[in-house]
Amino acid sequence: MGFLYKKFRTKTKRKWPKSPYQRAKDLLDDVFSILIRTRDRRRYGGVCPICKSRPIEVCFHFFPRGNLATRFEPDASCGSCSPCNMGEMLNRNRTDKYKNALIGMVGQERYDELERQSRSKVKMSAEDLLTSKRAIEAKMAKGDF
Ligand SMILES: [Zn+2]
Repeated sequence: MGFLYKKFRTKTKRKWPKSPYQRAKDLLDDVFSILIRTRDRRRYGGVCPICKSRPIEVCFHFFPRGNLATRFEPDASCGSCSPCNMGEMLNRNRTDKYKNALIGMVGQERYDELERQSRSKVKMSAEDLLTSKRAIEAKMAKGDF
């Protein structure tokens, strides 16, 4: 028993170094989140555009983040409060609340495009991710977003 426990512990405690791909994805997630939160604090006066009551704290993704096709798409994200972000993750597919919020922001036509985009397969290399990160940083430096 003690042996098994020890084995289990060393297994769960081990931290593998992140791959260059994962590191690049983390970096891009960070700058994308800053871009969206900055844009929407300005756009919605700092207030979460979904509940229209709590302050913007996080970057909300209208489509599951697992899909790279919309993960870094500004039109498919907004700044939101944490409870709305958590509510979306817990109630995805059980309510039209978040879908309707996005339709209210971008319009039905753009929503349909984004929905199609979210179902497409996109592959990005670590270098692609870093190129996107630099493009976002350049946009932010120019204030062009
Ligand atoms: Zn909210």
